[in-house]
Amino acid sequence: MRKTIIAGNWKMFKTTSEAIELANGLQRELYKLEETVDILLCPPFTALSEVSEVITGSNIKLGAQNVYWKDEGAFTGEISPLMLKDLGCAFVIIGHSERRQFFGETNESVNNKAKAALGHGLTPIICVGETLQEREAGSTFKVLEDHVQNGLKGIEESAAAAMVIAYEPVWAIGTGKTATSQQAQEAHEYIRGLLAKMYGQEAAAQVRIQYGGSVKPENISELMAQPDVDGALVGGASLKVETFAQIVKKAAEVKK
Ligand code: PEP
Repeated sequence: MRKTIIAGNWKMFKTTSEAIELANGLQRELYKLEETVDILLCPPFTALSEVSEVITGSNIKLGAQNVYWKDEGAFTGEISPLMLKDLGCAFVIIGHSERRQFFGETNESVNNKAKAALGHGLTPIICVGETLQEREAGSTFKVLEDHVQNGLKGIEESAAAAMVIAYEPVWAIGTGKTATSQQAQEAHEYIRGLLAKMYGQEAAAQVRIQYGGSVKPENISELMAQPDVDGALVGGASLKVETFAQIVKKAAEVKK
């Protein structure tokens, strides 16, 4: 049975003091929840240390939004997996569509980052998903195949089960347009099939696949009711205690 994973991607929002306040609020709301769900906060780099302090010893885990693949060196502005581990991160988001769109992230860089994360015991959340244009052209599956096969190239079967994949249709991110639960299930099932071809059925059955794209308290239950939807990567709705806590609680309810 795959453990549900709900992650909040705070993107470039929240100063350090705002981040502390949000993390404290979430901890107060969610501390009673049994460990049936992995709850994950991904603040900006600048707030990782403080949020780490707030959630240490709680049922909430820490993730970063990006990472570089080298351990150290002359790479101005970059952050290494070692540095993230040092701050208490257990997860890192890799290849988010905003990084692919605005910062030149490619399958190759995603692949380097995923390998580096796994090599340091960080769980990569590898984002894949099609644009609206690609969906309308009927190439959703082709894009997913490209992102999954090239993003995970060379990653061993033994590491596969440790990964998380986030299916995030680009047209649903921050737009208020959610994929229907059928569209989400169809894509997740396809991704699991790709993983099965690469790693075998058993390993593929262990990989958690999150859905991301305008997830909110109103649509989480239906999404989570799909057999291949194992959680959510939440942007906008993760920035408020009330909405994120509701999403976590409702997800826990569906998969209990
Ligand atoms: C995201 O940031 O990954 C995301 C899915 O954003 P939103 O929930 O705002 O669509």
